[in-house]
Amino acid sequence: MKCNEAIEHFLKLDRYEKPAVKVRIHIFLCKDCRRETRLVAESLIALQTGSSFKLESGISNNIMEAIGAEQCPQRRDVSSFKWLFVWVLILASIIAVPYNKQLGFLRMHFGVNFELPFVIVMGLAITLYSVIYIATHVEEIKNSVSFYDKK
Ligand SMILES: [Zn+2]
Repeated sequence: MKCNEAIEHFLKLDRYEKPAVKVRIHIFLCKDCRRETRLVAESLIALQTGSSFKLESGISNNIMEAIGAEQCPQRRDVSSFKWLFVWVLILASIIAVPYNKQLGFLRMHFGVNFELPFVIVMGLAITLYSVIYIATHVEEIKNSVSFYDKK
């Protein structure tokens, strides 16, 4: 075995892994390789003990605990009563459209037929609003449904 092969093999070793027998024999017999490998081993030990940057064992646990301790930004919950209030407001405005005199200028421009598309658009708005409410309150709705199931 040549010196460079022995050193290359030695450098590829993992921590605490022992070199192959033929490499150990070469290092034992070859003064240059013995010196070289001893320097590498001493440097590694110096790096592990003398380095200011030390890796703690179980560092991942510490990091995960720190992340768990972080306060997550709380979602601001709007009460269901406010949601319902706005829903009723939208519905009331849909119902009030035919009686609204302020919309006279729209009648002048679009004729009487503007009311149907207007009510359709408002219907879509209230439907979208309801879908958003349901999507953001799924757990609440599930809990209240299961509450009534138990009775
Ligand atoms: Zn050698």
